[in-house]
Amino acid sequence: MNTDVLVVGAGPTGLTLGIDLARRGVDALVVERADGLFPGSRGKGLQPRTMEVFDDLGVLDAIHAAGGGYPVGMVWRNGERVGEHRMFDPVETSEDAPYNEPWMVPQWRTQEILLARLEELGGKVVLGREVVGVAQDAEGVTAHLASGETVRARYAVAADGGRSVVRRAVGVGMTGEEVDPNPTLVADVRVPGLDRDNWHVFPPRDGADDFLAICPLAGTEDFQLVARFAEGTDVDLSPDGVRRVVAARSHLAPEDVTEVRWASDFRPRAALADRFRAGRVFLAGDAAHVHSPAGGQGLNTSVQDAYNLGWKLGAVLRDGADASLLDTYEEERRPIAAHVLGLSTGVHRGEVRRGTATTQLGLGYRESSLTAETRRAPDGALRAGDRAPDGTVAGVRLFDAFRGPHWTLLALGVEAPRVGEAVPVVRGPAHGAYGTGLFLVRPDGYVGWAGDTATGLTGRLARFGVR
Ligand SMILES: Cc1cc2nc3c(=O)[nH]c(=O)nc-3n(C[C@H](O)[C@H](O)[C@H](O)COP(=O)(O)OP(=O)(O)OC[C@H]3O[C@@H](n4cnc5c(N)ncnc54)[C@H](O)[C@@H]3O)c2cc1C
Repeated sequence: MNTDVLVVGAGPTGLTLGIDLARRGVDALVVERADGLFPGSRGKGLQPRTMEVFDDLGVLDAIHAAGGGYPVGMVWRNGERVGEHRMFDPVETSEDAPYNEPWMVPQWRTQEILLARLEELGGKVVLGREVVGVAQDAEGVTAHLASGETVRARYAVAADGGRSVVRRAVGVGMTGEEVDPNPTLVADVRVPGLDRDNWHVFPPRDGADDFLAICPLAGTEDFQLVARFAEGTDVDLSPDGVRRVVAARSHLAPEDVTEVRWASDFRPRAALADRFRAGRVFLAGDAAHVHSPAGGQGLNTSVQDAYNLGWKLGAVLRDGADASLLDTYEEERRPIAAHVLGLSTGVHRGEVRRGTATTQLGLGYRESSLTAETRRAPDGALRAGDRAPDGTVAGVRLFDAFRGPHWTLLALGVEAPRVGEAVPVVRGPAHGAYGTGLFLVRPDGYVGWAGDTATGLTGRLARFGVR
């Protein structure tokens, strides 16, 4: 088999990248070891920035329809409701940022939606194909599959999760630490007698490591159960084992849990790959960074890795941009991953609150070599490298203008220069966080270049193969 981009793994990272490449007309193949998509709910919190990405990728309506907001936590003690617990500090919505709180969708459902979109765009996914080895030379990458087949590609992307075979095959190390030595059980269960209006929290008793939480999964009849155990516990993942945990830590009886649909255990870790690129192979998602689930950052950071890499691969493979553009993937994403790892470990340890910091709306690429700020922008103002906020300019909603694989030019309170047809221009008066100026918005929704005049703008676009 031959393709331009081989994506290894059909998790959230691989599927997102597959969509972005398909809509850019890049020849790509996603190969997945399992015979079906991942069946569990684990990464259920979609952060506001991911909702914006999903809007651009054309899956937001389906994601909205499939999920719901987070319910208020209900704290239980000895079978009594003793108080409410709010998981997130409130974050205001604004015209700039239409989504404020995480949206809950079980990971299996998010993946189903992403797969459906990928197939709709004509993207290729092959299930039941495991990559067992990878070799590369100056022209491309050869992946060996367990089936005996080989795939030859110009580039490959390791989207094969925390235990990435591809990462090991290309000799990239991963450095990290254990965030919590206590094992955690996560399971999808049916408990028909339990109300679905609350996230049910059963705090540890007298210093014991027996925390239990049972959260209704929006859009399903399931609950996600999370239970923490004392260090060294061998967690019993059988349905009866899960029922025993529920009965021991709550007022529920074992038979109240009518079904255990999926169960898994893990010990939270925080680790970062030493590099995000080895020659023609890129590392993305959990293959590049693994987080504590606290704070709901792992899947979200993974989706955004894919979103950063997709347009760059498209620019090089389709538009003739210089291949050095691909170096900026690691340059831009590794510092973000390092930052987010610190954040999720902080949330896990109770040092950081969930709220503004966990929305991922404040992340950007000001320091990137791709970013050019040619004005003397006032302190605190929006600068090149920042996420391009939403808003309405002369009757045009900016996120509508940005939607799609193109760059967008905003001319706000200044005259718009002539640019090629490939770059839609939104003209209007000074607007909100942008103020006045010319703003060139990247395909992934960040201001790549900002200026008072158009000097340097066309050269900038040419670098990305945009004419
Ligand atoms: C309990 C729990 C709760 C979580 N909650 C959240 C949350 O609320 N929000 C959040 O953002 N994140 C959360 N996460 C993290 C999130 O689940 C991961 O970050 C996310 O799944 C990473 O996506 P990925 O596509 O990079 O990797 P994965 O989802 O691991 O997908 C990798 C895919 O590659 C396939 N694969 C592996 N090896 C090969 C091979 N050799 N050949 C072919 N295919 C291969 C696998 O079968 C798999 O389908 C949570 C995680 C856990 C454990």
